Amino acid sequence: MLSITPILMLLFAGGVWFLLAASAGQLAERYGRNYFIWFVFAVILSPLVAIIMVWCMGPDEENLCKRSIKAKTHKLCSHCQELMRNKARSCKHCGYTE
Ligand SMILES: [Zn+2]
Repeated sequence: MLSITPILMLLFAGGVWFLLAASAGQLAERYGRNYFIWFVFAVILSPLVAIIMVWCMGPDEENLCKRSIKAKTHKLCSHCQELMRNKARSCKHCGYTE
């Protein structure tokens, strides 16, 4: 019985490690970054370091912008090039009305 305990602890620690790495990946994804790259990075280095790094770097605005245009929830204002909702009639940034 005594020899099983360390293995279980190791498995548990590994599970927690992967879960944290997955949440680092999810955070990266939400910030418009690559899930897989950050997941691998978190597994190899440390999930906590990866989460802190993603958090410090902040959202990749340009990528998030591209993503929401691709998903057709947003479009670019033809006047000021800021992101506006697809169904919006006027731009909240410059007040431009189509
Ligand atoms: Zn505008």
